[in-house]
Amino acid sequence: MSKPPIPPFTVRAEGDFCRAVVADPSWVCPTCDGRGGAIELDEHNYEVFTPCGCRRALARAELFDRAQIGCRFANADFASYKAKNPGQMRALEQVQDFVLMHGSVKRGLLLWGPVGTGKTHLILALFRELTLKKGVPCRFVDFGNLLQDLRRSFRGKAGDPDVMLPLVEAELLLVDELGKGRVTEWELTVLDDLISRRYNAGKITLFTSNFDPRPDSERPASNVNPAYDGRARQATGAGLGPLVERVHERIYSRLCEMCVFVEVPGADHRRAYTGRS
Ligand SMILES: [Zn+2]
Repeated sequence: MSKPPIPPFTVRAEGDFCRAVVADPSWVCPTCDGRGGAIELDEHNYEVFTPCGCRRALARAELFDRAQIGCRFANADFASYKAKNPGQMRALEQVQDFVLMHGSVKRGLLLWGPVGTGKTHLILALFRELTLKKGVPCRFVDFGNLLQDLRRSFRGKAGDPDVMLPLVEAELLLVDELGKGRVTEWELTVLDDLISRRYNAGKITLFTSNFDPRPDSERPASNVNPAYDGRARQATGAGLGPLVERVHERIYSRLCEMCVFVEVPGADHRRAYTGRS
């Protein structure tokens, strides 16, 4: 049986999440005529049902649905990302390269920059490509929502398996809004647990963050917020930078091993950037 064409999918918001459906509801696979396969003769001349490849292609819509992408991202694809400066263009290219190289890449991406630069949009565009065109299981999680789920489900215990296992086992995971919120000891334990388990399983994890991951020594002087600088020095004795101050050194050094850091700069790049939103 020849390779069936993959029907074009469209994505729409349904309830809290996005769903992928075949764009043309009257689409019928031309290879199997919608029968899902064909009767063929095997080497002993027995009739066997051979499933058509379109079944696997159509199952990619379910893969997309299982990524649990929030309904407000129904339009997030590469075509709808409008880069507003050369830095955003470079970020777009790096994310697209990740899609092209998927299968041979060993490290995830950590997209960082101010609010409103489309970091989450870029990673979800990547998810759309990988689920719908390559059949790769992906999963989105907003870190704040994960903590809420854990609080609700287990009264404060970090590792509820019902909540954590799907996140540990997803082939690709996006942890959105890393470092946001109060970042208590308990929250850091949850994050450390999730990241360590994925790291040990050799899974690739993607992150977005509003916090600059560079140490102060590598950041332009105008970007160093004196308030941060003072707090970081107080806590650690050195200006380690906004992200490490949020997630602490153990998690930060894991991130350095697991991810390529990609800056998604704001529209006005000259304005002092501190990671505060
Ligand atoms: Zn078919």
